[in-house]
Amino acid sequence: MGCFLGLFGLGRLSRIRGLAFARLRSALCQAQIASQRTAPVRPMDFLKLWLNPMNRRRRIYEGKAKVLYEGPEPGTLIQHLKDDATAFNAKKHEVIDGKGVLNNRISEFVFQHLNDIGVPTHFIRRLNMREQLIREVEIIPLEVVVRNVAAGSLSQRLGIEEGTQLPRSIIEFYYKNDALNDPMVSEEHITAFGWANPQEIDDIMALAIRVNDFLSGLFLGVGIRLVDFKMECGRLWEGDMMRIVVADEISPDSCRLWDIKSNDKLDKDRFRRDMGGLVEAYSEVARRLGIMQDNEPPRSGGPKLVQ
Ligand code: C5P
Repeated sequence: MGCFLGLFGLGRLSRIRGLAFARLRSALCQAQIASQRTAPVRPMDFLKLWLNPMNRRRRIYEGKAKVLYEGPEPGTLIQHLKDDATAFNAKKHEVIDGKGVLNNRISEFVFQHLNDIGVPTHFIRRLNMREQLIREVEIIPLEVVVRNVAAGSLSQRLGIEEGTQLPRSIIEFYYKNDALNDPMVSEEHITAFGWANPQEIDDIMALAIRVNDFLSGLFLGVGIRLVDFKMECGRLWEGDMMRIVVADEISPDSCRLWDIKSNDKLDKDRFRRDMGGLVEAYSEVARRLGIMQDNEPPRSGGPKLVQ
């Protein structure tokens, strides 16, 4: 028995040693490849690669608040949500500890429910605190904004007092282009410049209305008014078939959320307007949705209805 255990222990030890050796060799190799492109290998580069195998993933895209990595299967990607907060086309920038984790959980909650009610999205599942597995889509270069209450750029542009209930929900399109400051565009521009065809615009608007109905009800149930939000769409190819799905993230970074009773802002306007308390506000949204409980590690649960 002792001999058997000994052999088992030795076998396991040599497997672990083998694995560690393979990781060391791979890290050294990566560091060498990197050094051919840039500077000579520094011990720190080598250590970083060895300690964090994630560094070896192929990065597809890096935006202001997220990074996309190659996924484990063809047609999938890993979406990593960063702590970076930006506003005014990245003129204002800060790293806010914990924001990416909260957005990952809140966006997972929203996208999973959208999938459950038959609104097609790119979301497959959450992988860890900051990352989710998504389907690779061809992003349509439009920001689709749905407004229920006047605020932000609509109030500025048309001189309508913030907080005024709009006669009906309004959908706007902005061309995703940082160099141009994401200008507002009409359906005429979208079709003339080939960003989307008329059928795709119809599909995007139908999705936007369904997402707005779902989110408005979800947040109303937990004492939050959905003032407006931004969503993005992508083309998902399945063989020869293509359909438009909701992509990117939906979180307090991309929504205006006001407490129904106090009108307190529970969204990124706290950062844009230097109000502070952003993580506390996002945590409050997560808590009310039942995603995180007070003083508890993150866990799943149902929304907390507000009477
Ligand atoms: O600034 P504006 O009033 O046009 O924003 C409308 C909505 O779109 C807000 O909820 C805002 O958070 C969101 N938005 C966004 N990303 C942008 C611009 C606006 O998420 N680049």
